[in-house]
Amino acid sequence: MTLPAGIYVRISRDSEGLGLGVERQLADCKRLVTQLGWAVAGIYEDNDVSATRGKPRPAYERMMRDVANGVLKAVVVWDVDRLTRTPRELEDVIDHADRLGLKLASVGGDIDLATEQGRMMARMKGTVARYEVEQQRRRLKAKHRELAANGAHIGKRPFGWNFRPDRTLTLNPEEAAVVRECVDRVLCGQGLWKICNDLNRRGIATSTGKPWHTVVLRQMLLRWRNCGVRTHLGKEMGPGQWEPIIDRSTHERVVALLTDPGRRSNNRGTEPKYLLTSIAYCGVCGGPLVGTNEYTYVLKSGRKRVYPHTYTCAHAGCMKVRRRMADVDELITSVTLGVLKRDGVRLLGGDPAAAKHARERIAALETKLALAADQFADDTITGDQLRRVSERLKPQLTDERARLATAQPNPELADFTGETVDAAWHASDIETRKRIIRLLGMRITIKPIGSGNGRTFDPGSIQIEWPPPAPA
Ligand SMILES: [Zn+2]
Repeated sequence: MTLPAGIYVRISRDSEGLGLGVERQLADCKRLVTQLGWAVAGIYEDNDVSATRGKPRPAYERMMRDVANGVLKAVVVWDVDRLTRTPRELEDVIDHADRLGLKLASVGGDIDLATEQGRMMARMKGTVARYEVEQQRRRLKAKHRELAANGAHIGKRPFGWNFRPDRTLTLNPEEAAVVRECVDRVLCGQGLWKICNDLNRRGIATSTGKPWHTVVLRQMLLRWRNCGVRTHLGKEMGPGQWEPIIDRSTHERVVALLTDPGRRSNNRGTEPKYLLTSIAYCGVCGGPLVGTNEYTYVLKSGRKRVYPHTYTCAHAGCMKVRRRMADVDELITSVTLGVLKRDGVRLLGGDPAAAKHARERIAALETKLALAADQFADDTITGDQLRRVSERLKPQLTDERARLATAQPNPELADFTGETVDAAWHASDIETRKRIIRLLGMRITIKPIGSGNGRTFDPGSIQIEWPPPAPA
């Protein structure tokens, strides 16, 4: 009588490294079934590659059900460690062998689960297999560490470089230019979502041929590889064996900008929703205002009350300023359009070198301000100290912003076009509008208003400060 046997194969994280691909396991097992004179009654395959220990194995469960139902009288595996991941699972198999007379064969050698010796062999093989896997893993880790210390690249092709035949990296000039462009645009304050849209529109794909996504773009920009530094497990190992795309200080600024919690609103993966968030400040505490959603509140009487979008101070110690968003946006829009109509020419052209210098100064000042705010939040400095730091730095920041506004070559305003300024404004997205307001150097502060006065909008409660005129 030919014994109906199930072949069980499992791909695990280690199997590829051990040369134990699924085809290899399957071919060896089929040969063994033939040698034993059994018949293949089913092939059960689990993919365990990204498994944590407790992840269910549907094929394994199905096979054990077939064993319990008597469909299978034998199980063939490449090695015992393919079948059972834990001693607990092995005991289950041994239990089946006891009750149902299940036979187990492995390419590594027959194991008769009906005898004490066979069971001991199975248990030992399981332990030894795990030990070998651990060793293999340790050797692989050591190898990776060594390669990292030598500055070698491991893994997929990184965007910006090509593989040479020996899998070292050589610059891919087109992609490297895209990396540089993205770096520049991020340092100009452009949102990642916008850069992604643009790259995808131009048909530029990632190194794996996929469209760009903000998460992927962010990772790409945060790679220390970009400035020629090899890292390993988050630590700097030394120079990489490849040509850098940007210099280190530029990369450090990108990292500071993309990881700065204070600038997160600019770096979120979505289009900005509100015109003046991260532009307008609270007139009481000086903190940035946030936009709130419109919401409907149902009163006990069943009547509804609609609360409109607002700009609100969300600083826990303050929360003293709140203003209807539509009113503020309308005021700032009309002021901005007025200025643009008067001397919008100033926004075109520019002096790239001066702009670059101003941007660097702004980045440095903003980092200092953000640091001070963090220290205040952590109680390492007092409110007084924070105010003194702000008072010293903010005029400098205003100066630099004004310089930037004059010098900015404005690659980001390329899509700000139209028959008239009004038409261009109407056609532009919120991010472009925010950029323009920033470029004009406007500092917008929303001042508190007394209670009972909140019904009518007072434009006088919105303070707009302008940068001093740039020297001619
Ligand atoms: Zn406030």
